[in-house]
Amino acid sequence: MARAEGPERHPRTVLITGCSSGIGLHLAVKLAQDPQQRYHVIATMRDLGKKEKLEAAAGEALGQTLTVAQMDVCSEDSMSACLSNTEGRSLDVLVNNAGLGIVGPLEGLNMADIRKVFETNFFGAVQLIKAVLPSMKQRRRGHIVVVSSVMGLQGVVFNDVYSASKFALEGFCESLAVQLLQFNIFVSLVEPGPVNTDFEAKLVAQVSKADFPHTDPDTLSYFLDVYLPASKDIFQTLGQSPEDVAQAIAQVIGSAQPSLRYQTNALYTPLTALKYADPSGDLSVHTFYRLLFRCQPLFRFSLCCLRCLSGNCLRPRVTPM
Ligand code: NAD
Repeated sequence: MARAEGPERHPRTVLITGCSSGIGLHLAVKLAQDPQQRYHVIATMRDLGKKEKLEAAAGEALGQTLTVAQMDVCSEDSMSACLSNTEGRSLDVLVNNAGLGIVGPLEGLNMADIRKVFETNFFGAVQLIKAVLPSMKQRRRGHIVVVSSVMGLQGVVFNDVYSASKFALEGFCESLAVQLLQFNIFVSLVEPGPVNTDFEAKLVAQVSKADFPHTDPDTLSYFLDVYLPASKDIFQTLGQSPEDVAQAIAQVIGSAQPSLRYQTNALYTPLTALKYADPSGDLSVHTFYRLLFRCQPLFRFSLCCLRCLSGNCLRPRVTPM
């Protein structure tokens, strides 16, 4: 199917959620500074008090190819206000990037925090997509990009709820993509592995404040003494920069025939492939179990190999004093 029924219009209007930091901020700037000026970016964020970093990074693009707007993806009113104030621009691309993490033993998490993750990661994206679809369908043109995660493909221990919120997005988009192709609207899921943004720092802060009530000492020790150090190693070894992920998403947006799924970190692909190698699930469950709980030295050795494969062992490592 051709990408658009008429000739491609430039610049294309791209609305991105969660642009005060991380991947959203870098993507907004990358697209706004596109040398071919293919995009006008509406960079949205929940709290406009946090716009300085984005505005500074945007430089001369600010007010030209980038405008900043308020949008809380958990508020229908804020969504409608933002969408009705796009200065007559019709959206060509929507990037659902805003997201929250949550980590810890399930027994120790409270239901309000669990619901907040689904409200933001899943219902926030659903509601925004629902709001932009009628106009995209009418124009027979559009691209919906959703920032999912490798955890939307493969569950990860102690990330049960976050992972579930991304699995929900995967099923939602996979279903929607079929119908929308008939309207020349493409749906793409971007699935990063670990990315070194504020995301992890917020989780670490959350964990340091939490006391995980109702959690037995064994589970707490598995989480604090086994999982957390392993997770830190994974971020240090395999973590991508937000610039790299923004670059990957920019390529997805620039693609003439966007696909449904994109993994941004090739080092992660073997891990997500385990479940396809054995549909019973035994291979992935038992492999992750052994690596984490039974063979810590093998786990560290695997990370070491991956670090070498990624070339990190040849680079000097700088550790904070
Ligand atoms: P980040 O914390 O820097 O960015 C998340 C952004 O979402 C923040 O700017 C935050 O303010 C915003 N946000 C949260 N709730 C919101 C709401 N209700 N309304 C509007 N904005 C809201 O972290 P990031 O790594 O840049 O995360 C971006 C996306 O990437 C998220 O969807 C996350 O799940 C996904 N992701 C991150 C990683 C990672 O390791 N950092 C890995 C895979 C996927």
